[in-house]
Amino acid sequence: MRASTWMALVLGALGACLGAALTQRQQDPKRTGGTTYAPANEVDKSAITPLSAVRAPTDVGEVAFDHVRTLTSFGPRYSGQPGWTKQLDHIEKTLKALGLEVRRDTWTDRKELITFSNVSAVIPGKRKERIVLACHHDTKCTQGHPDPANNFHFVGANDGASGVGLLLALAPVLLANPREASVELVFFDGEESLDWRWNDAARALFGSKRFVKKHREALLTGDEARIEALVLLDMVGRTDIHIQDETYSTKALRQIAWSAAVATGHEKHFFQRAEAASDDHMPFLEVGIPSVDLIDLNGNPHWHKPTDTIDNMSAASIQLIADVVLTMLPEVEKQYVLAKR
Ligand SMILES: [Zn+2]
Repeated sequence: MRASTWMALVLGALGACLGAALTQRQQDPKRTGGTTYAPANEVDKSAITPLSAVRAPTDVGEVAFDHVRTLTSFGPRYSGQPGWTKQLDHIEKTLKALGLEVRRDTWTDRKELITFSNVSAVIPGKRKERIVLACHHDTKCTQGHPDPANNFHFVGANDGASGVGLLLALAPVLLANPREASVELVFFDGEESLDWRWNDAARALFGSKRFVKKHREALLTGDEARIEALVLLDMVGRTDIHIQDETYSTKALRQIAWSAAVATGHEKHFFQRAEAASDDHMPFLEVGIPSVDLIDLNGNPHWHKPTDTIDNMSAASIQLIADVVLTMLPEVEKQYVLAKR
């Protein structure tokens, strides 16, 4: 075969790759790629597990909303910003006031030279095996990007603060109702991509990657009980909230989420649309930990926009997510913790 034929073949293959990448981006420009993990199909909405609805205390949405108001008053909350430090202190202070032991894991990424902090606290159950309830606390950096359209004041009321507010509001509820499994509340740092475009392979998900790596090491040395499942909350406070059927997430956990939405009567806010979205659950999935991401990304007009403020949020939205999470927990525990013993 002549060199020019080889060249034509190589160029042809390259063209095909680029074409495929372009098609992928055009179809789904937001939060996929950079992972070898393949999205699965939509849930079967007719396969409903009958669950007992668990209602959150009626003020949970308001309590969470108050936290969001406080956090957004701190301004931008990515590493290096004054608001980042204030937010970490607020999370820690709120959890400590409940008598919880708080772990703050601070490290500096060697390549990016950025300091990150994950915060976590375990609500002990009868067993040490854990279900992780998590969110991210960092906000998207909206300064210094080449495109001026990406530089603006951003407080991340929904994208960041809503998940933090909900976890902080759920903490006393979970403490008052201890379960068989332990429940670990985790607030990840560095979820957002440093590049404007999503780049989870190299420049996003810093906190969750670190958390999973440390967990794996602790398992090897016998210092930690296993994490059996992850329920991730991201953007859970928009007024017109819609949690998509996120198709990277473990299907059985998505079926539980759907069943909980039906049991609580909140199904119109769930799974009307399906789309894959890379998030802090990806590092967990990569090591085989069943995970579900409850995220309102698909069709969200305020995502990474100056309009992501409390004006476009409602306590009622956070409240309904609280109902669904609390209704999910006993079934997650049954399927992923109790069934193993
Ligand atoms: Zn974001």
